[in-house]
Amino acid sequence: MNKPSIYGLTINQLTAWLLDRGHKKFRATQVWDWLYRKRVTSFAGMTDVNKECIELLEEHYVLQTLNEHILQESSDGTIKFLFRLIDGNLIETVLMKQKYGLSVCVTTQVGCNLGCSFCASGLLTKSRDLSCGEIVEQIMNVQHYLDRARNNDLVSHVVVMGIGEPFDNFNNLVNFLQVIKDQKGLAIGARHITVSTSGLDDKIIEFADLNLQVNLAVSLHAPNNELRSRIMKINRAIPIERLMKAIDYYLVKTNRRITLAYILLKGVNDRKEHALELAELLADKLHLAKVNLIPYNSVDELSQYQRSEHESVMAFYDTLKKQNVNCTVRLEHGTDIDAACGQLRSKQMKEDQFV
Ligand code: SF4
Repeated sequence: MNKPSIYGLTINQLTAWLLDRGHKKFRATQVWDWLYRKRVTSFAGMTDVNKECIELLEEHYVLQTLNEHILQESSDGTIKFLFRLIDGNLIETVLMKQKYGLSVCVTTQVGCNLGCSFCASGLLTKSRDLSCGEIVEQIMNVQHYLDRARNNDLVSHVVVMGIGEPFDNFNNLVNFLQVIKDQKGLAIGARHITVSTSGLDDKIIEFADLNLQVNLAVSLHAPNNELRSRIMKINRAIPIERLMKAIDYYLVKTNRRITLAYILLKGVNDRKEHALELAELLADKLHLAKVNLIPYNSVDELSQYQRSEHESVMAFYDTLKKQNVNCTVRLEHGTDIDAACGQLRSKQMKEDQFV
């Protein structure tokens, strides 16, 4: 059987595991420091950890379960990593150079079952959830890549917006957040982390109750049930009214703002009447909600959807602004590489079938 990744343990789990095996508490702190601050690539490299502890770690865990398969670099500095997992599956991770720091977008599942009709990832149904270790390792692989360049660059922001629905892999997601937030480890600030969900209402409530202080983004993409059900299957099970109730709960419970993502699809959801309807839907939470308008990245297999014209995007933005909706247009990254989420993976899988 394959050994699990050491990165799947939170500091509390690592401490408990070592204590159970007769080691002192400070060993866990030492190991944690080697993993996340000194960032070794082998257990043997933990030079001040005693031999028994190293052997124990080697016997039960590995430091790498992801293998870098393809790396695409965009002219704007965006880097897309395609990793092969131990079972042969492929996942994508993206490093984006932002004005405010280095942001990594991670994947939480192999494929996705939610089947949003505009999404390349949804074309490939979910084969399994990623373990916490596999999600943390995406960050560590990117950080090791940055370490090799010796510029002292650190991953400063994380967005959980890659392939998969993070709330459909809830426990691993929460452990992942605890690992990357840990002050003695990567210490990525809660305010620098954003989790994006398609709108699983019961999980939004559970997430609010955990009070992790990270940012939440909800994919809305349509202002009414008829349209949202057409483009997002999940809306047939969890209609907008239920979603809004969960959002209201989140806003009260966490006292934090929320982002609503809205992908603009030409002629589908990008007309003035849609913007007005969206403003009406958000009328009771204008001070706590921000709409992030996202220009669509076309996908060959989904030719029914095209990117909205720039004029339509700006007209939509202006209409929302006039209705006092807090609103931004997302900056684009990596448009000269396979920019849409899941696109690189799906292309590679097709190529794999022909080798
Ligand atoms: S948009 Fe997100 S939730 Fe929808 S199919 Fe794609 S990965 Fe899944």
